[in-house]
Amino acid sequence: MEVLRPSSLREALQMRAAHPEALPIAGGTDVMVELNFGRRRPETILDVSRLPELQVIRREGGTIFLGAGVPYTWIMRELPDQVALAQASRTVGSPQIRNRGTVGGNLGTASPAGDALPVLAAYEAEVLLASVTGTRRLSWRDFLRGPKRNALAPDELIVGVEWNVPQGPGSFSKIGTRNAMVIAIASVCLQVDETTRGLRVALGSVGPTILRAPEAEAFGAGVLDEAGAWADPRATVPQDAVMRFGELTAAAARPIDDVRGTAAYRRHGCAVLASRALTWALADRRAVAG
Ligand SMILES: Cc1cc2nc3c(=O)[nH]c(=O)nc-3n(C[C@H](O)[C@H](O)[C@H](O)COP(=O)(O)OP(=O)(O)OC[C@H]3O[C@@H](n4cnc5c(N)ncnc54)[C@H](O)[C@@H]3O)c2cc1C
Repeated sequence: MEVLRPSSLREALQMRAAHPEALPIAGGTDVMVELNFGRRRPETILDVSRLPELQVIRREGGTIFLGAGVPYTWIMRELPDQVALAQASRTVGSPQIRNRGTVGGNLGTASPAGDALPVLAAYEAEVLLASVTGTRRLSWRDFLRGPKRNALAPDELIVGVEWNVPQGPGSFSKIGTRNAMVIAIASVCLQVDETTRGLRVALGSVGPTILRAPEAEAFGAGVLDEAGAWADPRATVPQDAVMRFGELTAAAARPIDDVRGTAAYRRHGCAVLASRALTWALADRRAVAG
């Protein structure tokens, strides 16, 4: 097996163009599992773990650019204000996996269980791709095409993701068979957008790819409106509306039965996680209002 080790993005893209069959490797926490289990045996590997252009976090105006090669440990340290993303990063694997694993790798694998992905969906993030012929910017939705399928062309690399910093509380939570080192059976990210008075809800592990829950989003925003809670976070939102928000979130799921859980359990999990997430968001808004 040949391993190509570029030291700049430009060099990496040239190598990618010359060897479109080469498998990129960043932290290797997905790729090495595939190699070790004999599921893949690429003749050439392109090591993108040393590209300085992929190892940056940039805040510009109201946006954040997160380089594809930034590991979860850095995200937890450098982006604590992006609460949902920091929470998702903290749930990935173990400290060793979080030190190596990257959001670029999560996007590359495009598993519906990738923990960073519901957060990127709730942030309305765009994925930045590059090749020797230029760059492309795709919405998370256009990039994630299906189970373990994405829109990356054979001559492209993922450079990073970018999103407008949301104003408002957000959270990520998942259920699994234990509290740590676990693939999600269901996950929910809720992001409040105070600017548009909207809610964004994204689901992981309960469909062929990451899903949004538009009905729940509209219902939840309407409930806050009726309660006067957008203007006054101390206003009471009825508990039955919080539960209904959970049910509508669950209705957006398209789960299957598999070794990790049944479809019914996954739907139930979505409902519980979403109602909890809304309860936390309302409490966070009240706390900020004082
Ligand atoms: C023990 C263990 C526990 C885990 N737990 C979790 C978990 O809790 N949650 C979770 O979401 N994941 C988990 N994972 C999976 C994995 O850690 C994540 O998906 C991680 O984000 C992968 O990042 P990486 O940098 O290691 O990717 P790699 O393994 O290096 O690459 C993954 C894929 O992305 C492609 N790729 C990587 N970077 C680029 C790039 N810049 N451009 C183009 N393609 C690229 C690769 O070709 C490959 O197809 C776990 C893995 C292990 C081994």
